[in-house]
Amino acid sequence: TFCCLKEWNVDSGKQILSHFIVKFLSADAGSFWHISDLHLDPEYQKSSDPLKVCPSAGTQPVISAGTWGDYLCDAPWILINSSIYAMKKILPDPDFILWTGDDTPHVPDEKLGDKIVLEIVEKLTNLIRDVFPDTQVYPAMGNHDFHPKNQLPAEENMIYNVIADLWRPWLDELSIQTFKTGAFYSQSLPGVGPRRRIIVLNTNLYYENNKRTMSLEDPGGQFRWLQTLLTKASETGEKVYIIGHVPPGVFEKKQGKPWFRKHFNQRYTEIIQKHHAVIAAQFFGHHHTDSFRMFYDNTDSPISVIFLAPAITPWKTSLPGVQNGANNPGIRVFKYDRETLLVKDIITYYLNLTHANMGTPEWKKEYSLTEAYEIPDGSVRSMHLVLEKLMRDKSQLQKYYRYNSVQYDSTFCNDSCQTDHICAIREVDFEKYNQTGCGPGCSLPQPPPFRFLDLAFALVGTLAFLLDLVADVWVAASYLRAGHFHWGGLVLGLLLLSSLTTQFFSWAWFRSDSDKEGLAQPPARTSKLLHVLQLGYLYRCLCVLRVGFQACKMEDATATHQALAIFLSHDVSLLRLFETFLESAPQLILAIYIILHTSQAEIFQILGICTSFLCITWALLDYHQTLRSFLRDKHKLAFLSSVLYFLWNFLLMYPRILSLALFAVVFSGYIFLHFLGIWLVMFLWVSLQGTDLMEHDTFEWFYRATVAVILYFCWFNVAEGKTRHRSAIYHIFLFVDNGILIVSWWWYRIPSSWDSQVYPALLAALVFYALGIFLKCVYYKCFHPTMKTALITHYDEVDSNEPGNDDAVVFRQMVIETPIINHRTYRLSWSFFAGSLAEETQHQQNGTVSDMYL
Ligand SMILES: [Zn+2]
Ligand SMILES: [Zn+2]
Repeated sequence: TFCCLKEWNVDSGKQILSHFIVKFLSADAGSFWHISDLHLDPEYQKSSDPLKVCPSAGTQPVISAGTWGDYLCDAPWILINSSIYAMKKILPDPDFILWTGDDTPHVPDEKLGDKIVLEIVEKLTNLIRDVFPDTQVYPAMGNHDFHPKNQLPAEENMIYNVIADLWRPWLDELSIQTFKTGAFYSQSLPGVGPRRRIIVLNTNLYYENNKRTMSLEDPGGQFRWLQTLLTKASETGEKVYIIGHVPPGVFEKKQGKPWFRKHFNQRYTEIIQKHHAVIAAQFFGHHHTDSFRMFYDNTDSPISVIFLAPAITPWKTSLPGVQNGANNPGIRVFKYDRETLLVKDIITYYLNLTHANMGTPEWKKEYSLTEAYEIPDGSVRSMHLVLEKLMRDKSQLQKYYRYNSVQYDSTFCNDSCQTDHICAIREVDFEKYNQTGCGPGCSLPQPPPFRFLDLAFALVGTLAFLLDLVADVWVAASYLRAGHFHWGGLVLGLLLLSSLTTQFFSWAWFRSDSDKEGLAQPPARTSKLLHVLQLGYLYRCLCVLRVGFQACKMEDATATHQALAIFLSHDVSLLRLFETFLESAPQLILAIYIILHTSQAEIFQILGICTSFLCITWALLDYHQTLRSFLRDKHKLAFLSSVLYFLWNFLLMYPRILSLALFAVVFSGYIFLHFLGIWLVMFLWVSLQGTDLMEHDTFEWFYRATVAVILYFCWFNVAEGKTRHRSAIYHIFLFVDNGILIVSWWWYRIPSSWDSQVYPALLAALVFYALGIFLKCVYYKCFHPTMKTALITHYDEVDSNEPGNDDAVVFRQMVIETPIINHRTYRLSWSFFAGSLAEETQHQQNGTVSDMYL
């Protein structure tokens, strides 16, 4: 009777063939279906009377209902039928099918009864059995698969008994026994490999609408049973999938809406935290939406993930406070590794109900998880990466939002919508959910305070800058007085160049921040004048000192003051870094070159070298402190990591500067050519990696050019991604370049009295280089907070009012009131810390990382 049935069978032969070929080629790659919330409305009819279309619409009139269903109604039989046949067409021979419950329509209990509920469950069971006669199905009961609804008991009863018999073809004897006592069971996954288990939970026992279990501590003994199974699994090396209907955590479409009772949610979370190592993934339904949930351990490492499947029913939820909560019917294929149960990809298919009713009932691919979010797989860490992407990239979040309703809702997900989704995904634990500013009546978290230490840093930085300036002028004056006009000119030239660059960035940032209220900014004209006079940087330094002093002085400084001080100090530290590498580093080379060239060292030269060193040290330390300030508190405290960061940078820079200086001694003219060549290479490299720091596209090129100068001297994290490979390539490149420079110096050198001192210095350079690489490895291995939810995602502050500021403040979605966030340094921090997360994930896909996160 179905027009489309015939058509579906036509090319199934081809499908089966290709399926076998694929199966043969990748023995460990399996796939399975996950369907949920079918909610059949047996009385759906395409009536012209808007009140007679479907009982599941309640009192809402259903205007111009279609053949395939309506967004106000539960699924008509034809829709459910087509979804199961679509599964048969898309993937006819899955390893198994997960079916996470909810079969009956959303109508008052009075309209249902034991008999009707059981009839519907039987009808759907038979349909799935007819279409997939030889496929193992793991069904779970939903809160609607009982009468009265939600009231699933923690003991044996008639409905459990009947359903156990209905599902007998899929369950083994032990499962049937346990099912009858509490509607949960566990079986080993057949044909998948040894020691692979599925645990099917009856989480309806924890549902807050279930009055029969509300006073129980462990309804049906399910928690104890689950813990026993998981403990046994870890002893025997089993991997486990957990499935169920009602998920823990809160509903992403309604702020602070939980499903589990509080103590059940807590117990569940604790069990996952304890046993996450054996749990490969969790699969739930009930939301009717496409989303996921993350679990973290006490150190904020991601440990487990729940995949929430969209519903087949399009029914618009009547939950108060949910706007427009309907969806297109969706079904999904999981690709997974039969050996490890690692989820490799999720492909969701859907029926556009509107189009179907207009005459094209076509089940189409909606998206693939790995393609949509550009992640290697569906592992815990990849899903954490997805969450991080959603948090900082509005376009990704908007994309997720469309998937969430299976392409039904294409409206804009505004700030509070964004917060609700991110919070729900991130915090399954109710308390954490409330603490992190997600729930109603929450305590708002404080922004990282601007402490006296930060003020001291700012003061020392400013003094170092002034000292360096004085030293430079003195050095230049000394050369000029001694008649070395080219050297004096060079010192002044470098000074001017770095000053111009720094002022340019300072001005551009003021300009792009001009719409941010509350920032202590000079008016546009004053700002221009200040920067033309080369005073912009100093002005910023003084601003930080002023605002920082106020923030520190006040007994309880307002969050605005704190945030402002931090915002300003971050820009200053970035500018300091630019200034240092444009001025101090080349000047160091010049000073060493002159000493080698003239074979004598004057006091002002020594002073110049010292201040240059001081400035470089300070810039590196300060920059790393800035990046770290975006980390959560416990990671931020590790000052040692900043020291280590400085050390390896410094140790690697010393050989670089020495070899450049030596080269300059012999080929003083060619050093500029060398710089130009390497700079061009670096510039190309940076441009290829793509950066995103400046608001203005043209200015971005200036930024890249500046970064290329930094890279001429030392490593600088540009973009997120495979840092490990990039930095390996970079260091090899620089090592070869240094080698060439030193060899050419040695070949063409004119013997001088300094030679005997140069050789130990060269030896030291080699040792330093090896030590530097070693420390860098140690740093990345032990002190670099990756794999963690290390980055602050809330940075709220209470009383800033900064409306309508639509340009890329990356944290906005996480924020109750808009904060002042320095998105430039945040992005750098992101690429520095989170970049390696992507790498870890990549690494895991290659199968080399332990199964800690599986
Ligand atoms: Zn449902
Ligand atoms: Zn449900």
